[in-house]
Amino acid sequence: MDIKNISKILIANRGEIACRVIDTCERLGIQTVAVYSDADADAQHVERADEAIHIGPSPAAESYLIADKIIDAAKATGADAIHPGYGFLSENAEFADRCDQEGLIFIGPKGKSIRAMGLKGTAKKLMVDAGVPVVPGYHGEDQDPAVLKKAADDIGYPVLIKAVAGGGGKGMRKVMKAEDFAEALEAAKREGANSFGNDVVLIEKFIEKPRHIEIQVFGDSHGDAVYLFERDCSLQRRHQKVVEEAPAPGMPEDMRQAMGDAAVRAAKAIDYQGAGTIEFIVDASNGLNPKGFYFMEMNTRLQVEHPVTEMITDTDLVEWQIRVAEGHPIPKKQDELSIEGHSFEVRLYAEDPAKNFMPQTGRLDYFHVEKQDNMRLESGVIEGDEISVFYDPMIAKLVTHGATRDEALTRMIDVIRGTYVAGLKTNLNFLINTLKHSAFQDADFDTNFIDQNIDTLVADEDDGLMVDMMLAVSVRQAMVMEDAMEQFDQSSEPNNPFNTMDGWRLNVDYQEPLTLLDEAGGKYELALFNDEDGVGYVVKNGDETYYMNGYFDHEDALIAQVNGRLYKAHVWQDDNHITIMRDGRTAPFTL
Ligand code: ADP
Ligand code: ADP
Ligand code: MG
Repeated sequence: MDIKNISKILIANRGEIACRVIDTCERLGIQTVAVYSDADADAQHVERADEAIHIGPSPAAESYLIADKIIDAAKATGADAIHPGYGFLSENAEFADRCDQEGLIFIGPKGKSIRAMGLKGTAKKLMVDAGVPVVPGYHGEDQDPAVLKKAADDIGYPVLIKAVAGGGGKGMRKVMKAEDFAEALEAAKREGANSFGNDVVLIEKFIEKPRHIEIQVFGDSHGDAVYLFERDCSLQRRHQKVVEEAPAPGMPEDMRQAMGDAAVRAAKAIDYQGAGTIEFIVDASNGLNPKGFYFMEMNTRLQVEHPVTEMITDTDLVEWQIRVAEGHPIPKKQDELSIEGHSFEVRLYAEDPAKNFMPQTGRLDYFHVEKQDNMRLESGVIEGDEISVFYDPMIAKLVTHGATRDEALTRMIDVIRGTYVAGLKTNLNFLINTLKHSAFQDADFDTNFIDQNIDTLVADEDDGLMVDMMLAVSVRQAMVMEDAMEQFDQSSEPNNPFNTMDGWRLNVDYQEPLTLLDEAGGKYELALFNDEDGVGYVVKNGDETYYMNGYFDHEDALIAQVNGRLYKAHVWQDDNHITIMRDGRTAPFTL
């Protein structure tokens, strides 16, 4: 087989995954071409690529999803290959074929392999033939509602109706009892037709204590395939992944091997090249065992959560993708691969957990992640960027590694605590609550975990808002103090009592009213006093009294004490707006 060297790659994507691909290309000395829509003119992937081509208006359907524009951009810049990232055109078989016809290397599987796995129903048939266990159910062609209903009755409730073309958790309906079937079928068909242009459905037994465990596979043009072990993506909300980890906690070695072998059989059955993921649903009601896993679907692309696999196998899967696309064999043999330690990934979203996770848009006024060893920050945005309505509101992925699950998990909680976002609401605090939950810490969970614990996971810390407000007050006092010092310095008459700060600061009788508004429009009329020894403040809010003081450790980092407890926070200020960020919380106030 011929080797074709790739020296320039066009990345047909945006955001963190485009930046992720650029990272590897930079290391390998491969030139990169970015494409961008109107909304992304100043985006990081454009900034960082060697060249960039504008491909149209902001909606993806008018830019990132238009094959012609991508192909034209590749030709105009002399790129040898196209990396599709995930989403957009990554699982579009026609696009993969088109690249082939145009003499461009598609960094991914052949169109026919994508097609074979494109519809969940046909994929399941293929897997049955390849000897891969599938979830019991009906995936026939006859879509007569009476036939489907009968199939559901035979399978036994609860069942899951899935649009065969579905993805991203869309087009699925769980049915608890026979009476609800007709309505759920309607809904699944409608969603399938509207979102994916296909209203064909399949019916599956609903697995009761399900864990989502998927296997990373890799195939090459020489007919070989290997597996890079598993990822556990059971922590989901609305069938969308929130926290991922590798390896899967409690995975017995014989089951790992059985799943890996099944995944490799699946990949070989469709002559698979490049990175792919076989998603299995695992029935955990009797613990994990080699008989309790079923094929769900294959994602014929690089997966969002691929970094946890890279962390435990010490590989760069984008490099592997490029090498395999050049015609090289898979860089490692199965027996050269092993698991080292444990890794977690969380998806940091601009969304409001308290308001049913409503996506947030707007300016990322402040974005700071404290770096440490054994972590990765994957992001396509920097402070000052806009999170727009046009694309997924993911701000970043945070990834950690540790020798053990506990170590990687503790590190992740630390990393999230060291992540500060202002301007937008995020799920950071929700993520901390999730990772700190005792059942999750004990690895006792299934895909229902978030739903079942949602109230605790979105709960606000007792008195959290008041603590944030006290921190905002201490920021305000630090500002007042700074102003006073400046005036004192600049004064030509240093002894003039009106220019000295002692008028308010050192006087024990100092008292001042202060009004703050919180984000919800709540108004707080506070009264400030100096405390007795003049080092801190006493703040009264109605009947409640708070004792506090604070100072800036460095530019944006506040260290403050409220009622004897120490808090570390980051602060974003703009005129009379003060945003306090700590422990995944973002609390904006107006003075
Ligand atoms: P992944 O683990 O890569 O996110 P999924 O199976 O969860 O894989 O998602 C399938 C595809 O759907 C991905 O390519 C992702 O970009 C896309 N996707 C994710 N969330 C949504 C959504 N809410 N609506 C539409 N597509 C989505
Ligand atoms: P999508 O293409 O939207 O990612 P999947 O078939 O991969 O659809 O299913 C998405 C999620 O739905 C899974 O990760 C799992 O949590 C849940 N799920 C899917 N099939 C079943 C099933 N048969 N029983 C229970 N849960 C399921
Ligand atoms: Mg899936």
